[in-house]
Amino acid sequence: MKISHLEHIGIAVPNLAEAIKYYEDVLGLKCYKQEVVEDQKVTTAFFKVGDTKIELLEATSPDSTIAKFIEKNGGRGGMHHMAFAVEDGVAEALAESAEKGVQLIDKAPRKGADGLQIAFLHPKSTQAVLTELCEDPAKSCGCSCGC
Ligand code: ZN
Repeated sequence: MKISHLEHIGIAVPNLAEAIKYYEDVLGLKCYKQEVVEDQKVTTAFFKVGDTKIELLEATSPDSTIAKFIEKNGGRGGMHHMAFAVEDGVAEALAESAEKGVQLIDKAPRKGADGLQIAFLHPKSTQAVLTELCEDPAKSCGCSCGC
């Protein structure tokens, strides 16, 4: 697969408002978007750091994977996953990963936050770091016009 950059780092937080306050007041970053992702049962908040984003994740339900992650982590948040932007598309990157024996969480790309197509690889196959592959469909034709 061809990775262009680290698209974002996902961080699980028990309290989104408190976390946003830290990123804005201490680090001086600006939250440019908050979005609920229904099928992942999370509210996300995004910050840009160069080409990379920070994605804060707060659970909207106790059965969210983020709620379970925080519970396992003694009620604290922490780094949850990292996401790579793939230039040749998520579907192709998944097929290539499967061929190389990587355990997939998502067998097909699905809709993630911030308009991305995403899929997760299982940490068992990725040196213990939950890994997300993503592509921006607005950029998938290869030109920069946003078509
Ligand atoms: Zn993510």
